[in-house]
Amino acid sequence: MKDMQTIISLAKRRGFIFPASEIYDGLGGVYDFGPLGVALVNNLKKAWWQSMTRNHDNVVGLDSAILMNKKVLKASGHLSAGFADELLECKQCQKRFKKDEVEGDVCPACGGALSEPRQFNLMMKTFIGPVEDEAAIAYLRPETCQGIYLNFLNVLNTMRMKIPFGIAQIGKAFRNEINPKNFIFRKREFEQMEMQWFCRPQAANDFFEYWKKERLTWYQIMGLKKENLRVQEIPEEERAHYAQRQIDIEYHFPFGWGEIEGIHNRGDWDLKNHSQHSGRELSYTEENGEKYYPHIIETSVGVERSFLAFFSDAFEEVAGGRTKTTTAVKEKEILLRLPKALSPIKILVLPLVKNKPALQEKATAVYQSLKSQFSCRYDDVGSIGRRYRRGDEIGVNYALTIDFESLDNDDLTVRDRDTMKQERIKIKALPAFLSKQLAA
Ligand code: ATP
Repeated sequence: MKDMQTIISLAKRRGFIFPASEIYDGLGGVYDFGPLGVALVNNLKKAWWQSMTRNHDNVVGLDSAILMNKKVLKASGHLSAGFADELLECKQCQKRFKKDEVEGDVCPACGGALSEPRQFNLMMKTFIGPVEDEAAIAYLRPETCQGIYLNFLNVLNTMRMKIPFGIAQIGKAFRNEINPKNFIFRKREFEQMEMQWFCRPQAANDFFEYWKKERLTWYQIMGLKKENLRVQEIPEEERAHYAQRQIDIEYHFPFGWGEIEGIHNRGDWDLKNHSQHSGRELSYTEENGEKYYPHIIETSVGVERSFLAFFSDAFEEVAGGRTKTTTAVKEKEILLRLPKALSPIKILVLPLVKNKPALQEKATAVYQSLKSQFSCRYDDVGSIGRRYRRGDEIGVNYALTIDFESLDNDDLTVRDRDTMKQERIKIKALPAFLSKQLAA
């Protein structure tokens, strides 16, 4: 059983994730990515971006603004009840709960009486310009996709796209979640990786199946264990207000199953609505004159939720002494089996012992020769066993050790994190060897 607390403490201790504004007691539902976290996030985004835009000729990218004109969110339904939770307030302790979290009619915290449910909009509000009045209200986007619909015509015309085609975007989204919880699973400021696929109405069902398969395959190519993934078909009464069909891709987190990605058939809801509200015609005309509002298939992944899925999947506690060591053996050791595409540091370069200038010099030369091509670190602090374990904890794929034999033979050992096999390789053969291994 993986324990969430151990995962959270590893994430903090090794510089992946910190609570935001920590020295001022934090800010609920907001986190910062540390040096290793941001490296992992960048790798994750790059992998998604490449699989979406490079592997699909007709998917192009976009980066639209976070601040949105409130008319957009009126048209999209976010300013109405469509994007609100029903909240109950305890008359005694004043705590607030989502209606679906309360069983019975008393406060889960103190047993006090509860108020009637009232609507609570999840959007974050701000003001544009110096005057904080009604006219100056703007919103931080609650999802990245609206910016894509607003740019549908711009992309269509400037890129000479033809239906079907897609627009992909990675960016921040904000929701004033009532109960942010489960570490970075439910945050108030988070990031989404979304792709909107515009197609003929008749083709929408087939493309829904196509993208569902593509997305599930991606998680498996990226190394998530099959048994930790499942697909849930969402019944009509639970679907988002715009969705004609919806599936959630769920991951089996240490705290239970949770959605990491939603795939939605949004029909013509978005382009039709924005046409009506903006007065700009967003329909599409085929070469044969046929005119229609393109239907949209959306794939929407959370960066943090998929980060947490990959991180939890990779996390393992193994019996101490896995690596032969001269220092005391701990009862348990942590191993982070991150896939090569995601690990923040792929290679460690280690002189066998410290205080041997010849070893340090050679190891430094190896490190210098690799660092522009690979994400690598030089480490000579502590015993070699301890350094291997530190690398295992942050998911380093290969440890290169320069020992006394290396001085005569111009070679080193390559230790594989997962198999612990050590192989001797000539230093001049290293770049080709590592390129091959890390491309696999
Ligand atoms: P939930 O039902 O868990 O609130 P949702 O169905 O509202 O999620 P979508 O609107 O479909 O989520 O958003 C798409 C993706 O964005 C989700 O699958 C998730 O990965 C991510 N996401 C949504 N809300 C949050 C949040 N508060 N914190 C982190 N990620 C989120």
